[in-house]
Amino acid sequence: MAEIKDVKGIGPKALSLLNKLGIYTIEDLVTHYPFRYDILKRGSLQETEDEGHIIIDGKVESVPILMRFKAGLNKMNFRFVTPSGVVGVSIFNRAFLKSQLAVGTSITVIGKYDKKKNIITASEIKMGGLSTKERIEPVYHCTSGLTNKSLSSYINMALLMYGREIPDYIPSEYLERYQFVNKRTALNIIHNPPSGEKLENAIYRLKYEELFSFMFKISYLKRQNKLNNKGLSRDISDHQLEEFIKTLPFRLTSDQTKAISEIVEDLRAPHRMNRLLQGDVGSGKTIVAFLAMYVNVLSGYQSALMAPTEILATQHYYNLKELLQNTPYRLELLTGSTSKKEKQQIYEDLKNGEISFIIGTHALIQEEVEYHNLGLVITDEQHRFGVNQRTNLQNKGFMPDILYMSATPIPRTYALTIYGDMDVTLIKERPEGRKPIITSIKTNDEIKDVLSMMYEELKQNHQIYVIAPLIEDSENSGDLKSVCHLKDQMQLAFKDKYHIDIIHGKMATAAKDLIMQEFLQNKIQILISTTVIEVGVDVPNATTMVIFDANRFGLSTLHQLRGRVGRGSIQSQCILISDSDTKRLKIMEQVQDGFVISEEDFKLRGHGDLFGTKQSGDMTFKIADLRQDYKILLQAKKDSEEYFQSRDVCDDELRKKLISGIFMN
Ligand code: ADP
Ligand code: MG
Repeated sequence: MAEIKDVKGIGPKALSLLNKLGIYTIEDLVTHYPFRYDILKRGSLQETEDEGHIIIDGKVESVPILMRFKAGLNKMNFRFVTPSGVVGVSIFNRAFLKSQLAVGTSITVIGKYDKKKNIITASEIKMGGLSTKERIEPVYHCTSGLTNKSLSSYINMALLMYGREIPDYIPSEYLERYQFVNKRTALNIIHNPPSGEKLENAIYRLKYEELFSFMFKISYLKRQNKLNNKGLSRDISDHQLEEFIKTLPFRLTSDQTKAISEIVEDLRAPHRMNRLLQGDVGSGKTIVAFLAMYVNVLSGYQSALMAPTEILATQHYYNLKELLQNTPYRLELLTGSTSKKEKQQIYEDLKNGEISFIIGTHALIQEEVEYHNLGLVITDEQHRFGVNQRTNLQNKGFMPDILYMSATPIPRTYALTIYGDMDVTLIKERPEGRKPIITSIKTNDEIKDVLSMMYEELKQNHQIYVIAPLIEDSENSGDLKSVCHLKDQMQLAFKDKYHIDIIHGKMATAAKDLIMQEFLQNKIQILISTTVIEVGVDVPNATTMVIFDANRFGLSTLHQLRGRVGRGSIQSQCILISDSDTKRLKIMEQVQDGFVISEEDFKLRGHGDLFGTKQSGDMTFKIADLRQDYKILLQAKKDSEEYFQSRDVCDDELRKKLISGIFMN
């Protein structure tokens, strides 16, 4: 296939600008879809709004005056007579048109109309007039130095030269079934829409194609997992597991027991485990992970647990260490802040098999790390990792079994797509004695009430989390609360009676760990933080969560934050402080179920905020939008599965194309 630089008109400078937009291949270029369209209507000067788009016919009335600026830029002005009046026209960088714009020439001007100045800033001038009444203009994401117009011309040139070579991922039988236009036509339409109806059909077809090929990949991955990946088949004694469970400080819930037995079945079976353990915050997934790791080590293999933050990895490490104290196995912690010397030792002992359990951050998947016989890999808070990161860890072992854990309840659509290749275990039931967290919304004027509620809790020797969106006040932070500011205020309110401290993402890891340790030991009573504590950290004596500027956060994030309290049997509460957006926040008052909240969040804000952070590209579709395109997704899923099963995979070119780009070992 040709490359972008082969497209006529694209030189080295344009090439680097296109790269900046993430465009590297001709396929990238022609699928750089407009993010919206401007509808230009043929109209009169009077009908057009100020700053509105206009298409208008008329005659040149004055000789165009050309002005030249630095860097080869130029501008031309002339008077223009139309049936609805005389208007000035300006056009940039079209000096070459001057000779064609003799006084009296009939032209069509397309542009933006500034009513006050009575000037049209033209984007285009057409000789001899246009035939249609309305024009739909694509608007692209651009970058400085690359205009909408030049982008559009590169795309059209690429389509003209190489349009036939762009792969169509829809098999011909489905093209016929739905009477879809072919790929090249669809691309031509989306970049140069002849009419609204044709555009809609082309968009539908491109969405279908994108979802079809995505779901085809998922079917393929699913089958690869089942067939090719001969996993480890282990000998596991129920007795040893039961003995270990007896040493736990609490009784497992029946969902936890069920989860463990599903995992143990997977470990015994000759196929490779590829399982997602989903459970709301506080549902007790960690102990299930520890038991799985233990069973795996009993059967003679190493176990690894990867967490997204050091705080969380460290907490897991201490908890597991306690559970393992009467066993002969060695557990180590590997994070970014492990000293170089310690690291070397850990690498060596992982390689020679002296370490059975390893817990860490993504330091676990650095290239230097080699394992003796990695049998099980668990990733906690899975949604924080990208697909490639999780595949990396898989590649470390021979054929390790994999368990993903996620506390972010995933709406149906997502479960179907991002996790569509996995088996799913759900933990719904919460550990015994947990009470719902009482949630209330307060305005900034009611801060005194909030402080007295906090005081009541402190008197009972309970601890409190306070969350703010910013670390420090700054010039443009407006009314938003910051961690540092709140610390001063709380100290004024509570005097020296209670120890108040802060934690945030900009602090050094050792400092953060120390603070978390002190909070865990109740040396700190009020911990003020940004959302760094969002993920996983467990302090059962913390009963109150106060979130300032709650309207700044997505519902899923609020739910995750709220899940930091209510982890023991004590009644807990969550206070959301906000003067606005109360309708959305009310959902938090009424709903405790994370799944319902995520569905609401998804409806309101899309997946961008669902995971608290922008996802790492795994789930970005170019044209499909899962909020609206759920029906197309279901159809594409059904069709792609049917197609997948209709013949052997990879027996023709299209199948190869469909599964290309899948990163698998
Ligand atoms: P999450 O699912 O959010 O990761 P954790 O695994 O951190 O939740 O568990 C939350 C808290 O509940 C921890 O303090 C844990 O020790 C406790 N816990 C887990 N299972 C049970 C149980 N069956 N009974 C009582 N407490 C439990
Ligand atoms: Mg957890």
